[in-house]
Amino acid sequence: MSGGYPVSARVDRHVDWIRTVVPRTPFGCEECLPIGTRWVHLRLCLTCGHVGCCDSSAMRHAREHAGELGHPIVSSMERGEDWRWCYVDEAFA
Ligand SMILES: [Zn+2]
Ligand SMILES: [Zn+2]
Ligand SMILES: [Zn+2]
Repeated sequence: MSGGYPVSARVDRHVDWIRTVVPRTPFGCEECLPIGTRWVHLRLCLTCGHVGCCDSSAMRHAREHAGELGHPIVSSMERGEDWRWCYVDEAFA
């Protein structure tokens, strides 16, 4: 992904990817659960409902999911946190 994107435009160009999703695995990272890896925080893919672990976790499955499927935006699943992150722009969305 590339292109001359003005940094000043604060509406993320990937918001079109956001759908109404239900967490596929509300209790933990979809990839960590079967192999027993621990995660730090959980991120919810706002395109398909994939639940993955954050960049502070060992496996970084949320980032991996975004890279593999091209789903750019996640939200935090941590209680009390209400923000979205775009893995393409590496910025809050
Ligand atoms: Zn973006
Ligand atoms: Zn994971
Ligand atoms: Zn996804």
